[in-house]
Amino acid sequence: MPPTKKQADLAKIKISPRGATRLKAGHVWVYRSDIVSAEGVLPGSLVTVTDHRGKPLGTALYSSSSQIAVRMISNEAVEDLSTLLRHRIAEAIAYRESLVHDTGAYRLIFSEGDLLPGLIVDRYNDILSLQILTQAMDADSVRETVLSELTARLHPASITERVDPRVRELEALAPRSSGLLQGEKTSTTFAMNGVQFRYNAFEGQKTGAFLDQRENYATAAQYAHGEALDVFCYQGGFALHLAPRCARVTAVDSSRPALEVADQNAALNKSLLNGKEIEWIEANAFDLLKDYSSAARTDEARRYDTIVLDPPAFAKSKRDLDPALRGYKELNLRALKMLRPGGILVTCSCSYHVSQSSFLEMLASAAVDAHRTLRLIEVRGQAKDHPVLLNVPETAYLKCVIADVRY
Ligand code: SAH
Repeated sequence: MPPTKKQADLAKIKISPRGATRLKAGHVWVYRSDIVSAEGVLPGSLVTVTDHRGKPLGTALYSSSSQIAVRMISNEAVEDLSTLLRHRIAEAIAYRESLVHDTGAYRLIFSEGDLLPGLIVDRYNDILSLQILTQAMDADSVRETVLSELTARLHPASITERVDPRVRELEALAPRSSGLLQGEKTSTTFAMNGVQFRYNAFEGQKTGAFLDQRENYATAAQYAHGEALDVFCYQGGFALHLAPRCARVTAVDSSRPALEVADQNAALNKSLLNGKEIEWIEANAFDLLKDYSSAARTDEARRYDTIVLDPPAFAKSKRDLDPALRGYKELNLRALKMLRPGGILVTCSCSYHVSQSSFLEMLASAAVDAHRTLRLIEVRGQAKDHPVLLNVPETAYLKCVIADVRY
C-alpha cells in the first residue's frame, strides 16, 4: 500500500533486525534496545515503524521512557488515530456482546488484547472505570476520543479513572489522581454468575474487582465440596461462589478493608448462602498455612475438602521468577498437606512471568514433596473478556489449575 500523505508525515522509528523479526512473528512490542533511531520523535506520538533498511512495518504508539518503546497499533498505514481508536473501541464492545453473558461487570477493553495498547476499561453496570498505562493513551486528544466513543455507544452514568502512580512514573507522566471524568455515580451492586458484589469506584485493588476470575469462580464451584478454605480471598469472590456447594467456608486475607467488603457481600447474598456463615479471617496467609498444615497431621479441624489459592503476583519482573516459584511451591505444598483424599485444589497465579508450564512444574514438584497424587481436572486461564493474543504471550497472565488430590 503506498503511504498516504498523512502517513508520510508521521515521524519514523527505525528498528533492528531482531526487533523486526519479533514483529514479523506477530508480537506487538519493540523494546528500547531494538530501536536504531528515533530522532525527533515526540513522547506518546503516533509513528511509522520501519526495518533497518527503511521499509515500513506498520504504525505504532511511542513511549519515550518505557522499556517497551513501541507498541504496534496497526500493520498498515494509519491516516487518523482518532478514527482507528473509535473503530477499535466499537470492535471491543461488539466482541464482549458476543462472548460475555449473565454479568453486569466485565473488562470492556484489555489493552493489547483489543489492539488498544495502554488502555483498560472495565464495566460495572453503568459505571465505566478507565486505566491509562502509556504516554500515547494519556494525550488529551486520545482521552477525548475514548470518552466520546464510550459515551456514544454505552451511555454510562459515569466514567471514572483509576490511576496507578507507579505506571505514571514509569511513563514519565505528571502525577494525577483517581477521580470522576464524567457523571457522578461512584457505586453500584453488580452480579457475576448470580452472586452479588458491592462496587465502589475508588476502593479496592485493580479497578475494584478481579473480573479475570469470573469464569473460574463458576467452574471452581462445580467441583467444590465439604469444608472449604479460600486463601487470599479479597472481597470474597471464590468464597461466595463456593458457599452454596460447601458445608463450611473459611476465607483468609491480610487486608481488613477487603474483608469488610467481603462481609458486606455475604450479607447481599443471604438467600444464596441459605443461612450459612462464611468465616473471614484476617491473617498473613503464609503464617496461617504454616500453622494449619503442621496441625493438619493430627487435628481434623485443620483439614479441608476444597482449598483455593489465589495469591497476588509474586513475580513482578523476570528477576523475581525463582523466589516467586518458591513462594508458590510453599503455599501449594502446605495446601496439599491439608486436603483430605478426594479433595479439590484450585490454585492460581496472576504473574505473567510465570508461564503455564513452569506453574505446572512447580505444582508437580509440590505434589511429590507432599506425597500426593494430583489429577488435573481443569487447566484454565483468564476470563474471555480479557482476550489473549496468541502471538503475544504477555497477554496471557492468569493460570488457574483445578486438581483432584489423592494419597
Ligand atoms: N481471590 C481474590 C483475589 C485475590 S488478590 C478474588 O477472586 O477476588 C490477592 C489478595 O491477597 C489481596 O486481597 C491481598 O490483600 C491479599 N494478600 C496479599 N498478601 C497477603 C498475605 N501475605 N496474606 C494474606 N493475604 C494477602
